[in-house]
This record gives sequence, structure tokens and C-alpha cells, in this order.
Amino acid sequence: MWGLSHIAAKKDDMKYPKLLEPLDLGFTTIKNRAIMGSMHTGLEEIEGGFERMAAYFAERAANDIGMIITGGIAPNEESSSHGARMSNDEEAAKHRLVTDAVHTAAPDVKICMQILHPGPLAYTPDCVGPSAVKSRIARYVPNELDKAGIEKQIGDHVRCAVMAKKAGYDGVEIIGSAGYLISTFLVQKTNLREDEYGGSYENRIRFAIEIVERTRAAVGEDFILIFRIAAMDMLEDGMSWDEIVTLAKALEKAGVTIISTHFTWHESAVPTIATMVPRAAFTSVTGRLRKAINVPVITSNRINMPDVAEEVLARGDADLVSMARPMLADSAFMRKAIEGREDEINTCIACNQACLDHTFSGKLTSCLVNPRACHETMLNYLPAAVVKSIAVIGAGPAGLAYATVAAERGHKVTLFEASSEIGGQFNLAKRIPGKEEFYETLRYYGRMLEVLKVDVRLNTSASLDELKAENFDHIIIATGITPRTPDIEGIDHPMVAKYIDVITGKRAVGNKVAIIGAGGIGFDVCELVSHSGPSGALDRDVFAREWGIDFENHPRGGVTGVEPIVARSKREVTMIQRKDSKVGAGLGKTTGWTHRLSLTRRGINMINGANYDRIDDEGLHITVNNNPILIEADTIIVCAGQDPKRDLYEILMAEGLPAELVGGAFEAKELDAKAAIKQASEMAAVI
Ligand code: NAP
Ligand code: SF4
Repeated sequence: MWGLSHIAAKKDDMKYPKLLEPLDLGFTTIKNRAIMGSMHTGLEEIEGGFERMAAYFAERAANDIGMIITGGIAPNEESSSHGARMSNDEEAAKHRLVTDAVHTAAPDVKICMQILHPGPLAYTPDCVGPSAVKSRIARYVPNELDKAGIEKQIGDHVRCAVMAKKAGYDGVEIIGSAGYLISTFLVQKTNLREDEYGGSYENRIRFAIEIVERTRAAVGEDFILIFRIAAMDMLEDGMSWDEIVTLAKALEKAGVTIISTHFTWHESAVPTIATMVPRAAFTSVTGRLRKAINVPVITSNRINMPDVAEEVLARGDADLVSMARPMLADSAFMRKAIEGREDEINTCIACNQACLDHTFSGKLTSCLVNPRACHETMLNYLPAAVVKSIAVIGAGPAGLAYATVAAERGHKVTLFEASSEIGGQFNLAKRIPGKEEFYETLRYYGRMLEVLKVDVRLNTSASLDELKAENFDHIIIATGITPRTPDIEGIDHPMVAKYIDVITGKRAVGNKVAIIGAGGIGFDVCELVSHSGPSGALDRDVFAREWGIDFENHPRGGVTGVEPIVARSKREVTMIQRKDSKVGAGLGKTTGWTHRLSLTRRGINMINGANYDRIDDEGLHITVNNNPILIEADTIIVCAGQDPKRDLYEILMAEGLPAELVGGAFEAKELDAKAAIKQASEMAAVI
């Protein structure tokens, strides 16, 4: 195991001197500057979940993360609708499994428990708040707390922190942002009180400060106390910069060890963690706060590789860098950084598809690029008992996942790919503005194929004879999909284009575009053909303009009075679906709205409930609510889903060869990379 002494010895020649520098807190030391940020996993609530959580965190601890912050734990009943609670000894005792596992795996790694009181966002009619103001995204109007209620909430936070200490945690993080209870006291629009907890700003911060003062008094000096504030809440008339600094200074005086910065309330309509957000976009805000206070600060959001973290720290933007999703994507992130193997890091691509989309749909959290995340006790890539020679046909996400997992287990793997590069559908995704992160997944797989010595044969369509001649023990058909051609009169018209040809640039696109199909690919194509200028994901100024953020002057909330400036599409684009549901309803729960909103701002026309009548020289004829409509077009792009591509599989089956389908070739309906990688990894784990 790598300990502090080893890091110190390697310091001179290491690439990430700031990231690997220990942080002395006086009473204890955090061994490096990387924190696994809080993330609700859903394990907290399921049977056997604490055992699984213990394995999940211990694996990250063993791989040299400096400090872990757990998912949010509620301090009382009225706050516990989101998840687990710590309000009595029995609830606290379960956490021993987690803290012991982490400290056994790595005695020098700290673990803090997040105390999360959702306040008005709790899924219960008993939810509470400073005033009866319902959030745009809440289910219920909160019950206004009276004085005794406030006293109870403070006491419950303190009790929760004391129990966390007893349960073996090194500290707690109290969340005072995101639209949860404490933050709703801070902001005028949610705090209409006229007593000493409302009105002036001094009164509005009283609740937060009393929680911290009394928690510090109860837990003593040698316990890490982190408070998470919204350094930019992204709310119209949200907190001003002066108010944020005032709060931070008051928290410092009240006894926090560390201040963690957060950048949104959940109800805000600005993306802060999606793929389209530039890396480290918000850290300068933390940097400004850091100059105003004396306790260490944590920054976060879209920091997904060690060099990004190092730059943030080197700029002086923060003392510590929080990475939540990147630690799902690769449990050995820090170990690889320390060992100079960063090209082997499985990078978080900020898709949210298997993490936050799951969390907010009540499913267990995992990770699209790493299905082992939160399944550490169930999915393991152990050495194979009998080494087999395996042919994997197709180097899309499913084929890549299968090949790398099987090779990691010691199998001899040959990967056939008909095209000149690995990646399959990911090669399309990476070309979409805002999805540049997909390059990282391809870099990761490319490197792992080298490290694991997979025999990669590009530009090679495996033939029956070849496969027979090599006498493979097992053949995996990951040949993916073929785009569906809908049965519409005139579908052979020259103006009709396949989405693959448009995305790869093989097909020129005119000025009047109709897109048939509004699934993930339809939205991607729409983004591509309506986009002009640099990608906001790569240019922070563009991103700030498009979403109406002022990082420099920091008006209230960072957004007040700042109108988004969106370049309207130069093309006239219409996207169509047959379903009556809202266009884009099937996109990711946490990111779908960003795509719908940005395309609407660009002037894209979206039509649901359509029947396709025909295509002719005028364009696309459809009927909506019995009204015939002509969508004049010079290019019609078909994004109507896919069918499995199984030609080779059928040939092999007929010959009695040992073949198995995976990914899109297995099931094209609802195909996505998440399902493909998961299925392939699970199959390769047991072959
Ligand atoms: P999809 O999500 O299944 O959408 C297919 C679209 O085509 C639907 O809008 C469907 O709407 C329409 N359609 C289906 N059959 C049709 C037919 N016979 N005639 C006309 N229209 C038809 O498939 P996709 O867009 O190709 O995406 C494939 C997978 O990749 C999906 O699982 C998707 O989630 C994933 N993906 C995800 C993202 C993302 O951002 N998360 C991006 C790209 C791809 P109607 O049936 O209502 O017409
Ligand atoms: Fe990152 Fe996507 Fe994995 Fe979530 S599912 S951790 S966003 S790669």
C-alpha cells in the first residue's frame, strides 16, 4: 500500500506535486488533495447495502484517495425521505462496517459522513422549511418551522454529528447548499420569516451558524467539520458575492475545519456538471473565496483527470479537489495518478446516465464506463480458472468492454474490427459538440488493449474461414447495429441521409433539415447540424454566454440579470417523432432538460404525435392531429433507431461454432452504451 512516506519520497519527480501534497489540518493530516465527493448511491437503503458500501469505499481508500465523503445521511425523520438516517444508536451502529472497512484498507485515509437535511425538497408532506415556500421541483409545500422546530432541527444536526463520530467517522460534512434546508434559510425568496432567523442577512445565516457552533462544541476540536456552501447558487436573486463571503467568514469563526464550495441549487436551470460543462468551469469562484478566508476550501465540478486537478490547485483556486463521479468511473484513479499511469484512468465522461439519472429515478447508482461501481461485492474480474482463446468481433463499447475484462482475467483475446479505428458508436458521439469527453473513453480502451496485450486486428472483417482456422474456444459477436430504415413512401429520395453519414461528415447537409426520430441520436444530430462556433464544453466563455452566467462580476446567484446569448441555428431544423409524449422525454433524467432547452433557444422546431405520409421533392409530408403538414426540406436525416446486426452470428450458429451475442447485436432496442458495457463486462467476468 502507498502511504505518506512513499509519496514524500517520490515528490521531486512526481507529475502532480500539488495534488499529492498532504494537507495538515493541525489535529490531523489529509494525505493528498483528492477527495471523493459525496454521492448518494442508493446502497444506504437496501438490504445488505452497508456491506456493499463498505466494499465500495474501501476499494477507493485502498487506492489512495485522500478523503472520502459519504452520500447524504438525514439527521431526523422529517429529512429522511431521500435515504438513510442517523438519529439513534441502532442506525449509527450500521456505519461501523463502513468506517472500519475504510480504516482497515487504508489507516491514513479519512472518511467523513455527509449530513443532508433536504428541508423543502424531502419527499414527505412532513417536510419543513423556514417558510411555506414550495420549490419549483419539490413535491410538497414545506411546513413552516416554529422556534421549537428550529431548535429541534439544530439539535438533530448536532446529534447526528456526535453519532457519526461514535460510528468511527473522521468528520462530517454539513450540506448548506442545493436548495436543501440550511440554504433555504439563507436566501430571501425561501425565507420570509420576520423573527431572528429571517429578515436581515445576519438573521438568515443564524440557523447555519448555530448548527456549526453547537456541532463544534459537541464533537470537540479533533473532528473534521466541513460545511458546504453554494458559492454560486445559480438563482435569480440568489446570494450576492458579499453574502457568500460573509457566510464563509462567519462559518470559519463558528468552527468549521474546511469550507466546500458547491455551484447550484437543484431547481436552477443552468447545467453545472453535465458533459457540456467545461472542465473545472467553476473553480475560479472557489479561488476568489479562498482569498477571503483562512480555512482550507474544497472545489468541485467537472474535474475528471489528475492534470485538471493539478492545474486547479496550482492556480490557487482551492486547497482540495472533490471528485465524486470520477471515483465511480475508476476506483484506482489516484493510484494510477501516483504511479504515472494516468493514461489508464477510466475517465468520467459526465454523462450521468448510470449515476445521477439512476439516483433520481430511485435506482442503484453505478457508472456507464464502470459497471463495477457500487457492485464491488458482486462483479469482480478474477483470474480465469482455465485460460481460453477468445475472438471478439466488433470494437464498439460492448466489444471493448468484453475484450478488456476477459484479457484482464488472463484470457487470450483477439479483437476484430472492420473499420480503421476502435470505438463503434462512441466514434459518432465524440464528434457531437458538447460530447468531446467520449474521446477519453476511447483513449482508455485503446491504452488498455495495449496494456493487456489484446491482439487487435483493425480493418478486418472476421470471416467464417478465418475464425474456423484459428480454432477459438469462444467467439463473441459484438457487431453492433444497423440503422433502421423506416417504411415511408419516398425514403429512397436523394435528400434522405443516414445519421452515420451526417455525423461522420460523409454527407453534406443543406439549409432546411428534417430529422426523423427524436431519441438520443436524433438529439445528437440536431445538436450537430444546428451548432455553430466553438463548443461550449471546450470554451468557458462560450458556455457562460450560452447559459447566462457572469463568473467575473458575480451578480446575485451568478446569473441575475444575465440573459443567455445563444447563437440561433443557421439552418432551419425540425425534429419529429410519432409518440405523443414530449419530444426528448426519453433522454436522461438529469440532462435531458439541458438538451431540450438549448435546442429550443436555438430555434429548433420539435413536433410530436406525427404520422409520416411521404417524402418528395418538396420535403417531408406528415400529419399531426389530422392536419397535413409539409416540412420543406433539402435534407432529411433518418434517426429512427436501430436493428441488431447479426449476419455473422447466424452463419456461425449454422456451422455450430461457439458464439455468443453481446451489446447492440444482442438487443438493439433501447440500446445504449450503458447496457452494452454492463452486459459485456458481466459476461466476460464469468467466461
Ligand atoms: P432511440 O432512442 O430508440 O430513438 C429512436 C427514435 O426513432 C425515436 O424517436 C422513435 O420515435 C423513432 N422511431 C423508431 N422507429 C421508427 C420508425 N419505424 N419510423 C420512424 N421513426 C421511428 O434510438 P436512437 O436515437 O438511435 O438512440 C440509440 C440509443 O443510444 C438509445 O438508447 C439512446 O439512449 C442512446 N443514446 C443516448 C444518448 C444520450 O444523450 N443519452 C445519445 C445518443 C444515443 P417514435 O417511435 O415516436 O417515432
Ligand atoms: Fe461519470 Fe457517466 Fe459514470 Fe456517472 S455514469 S460516473 S457521469 S461516466
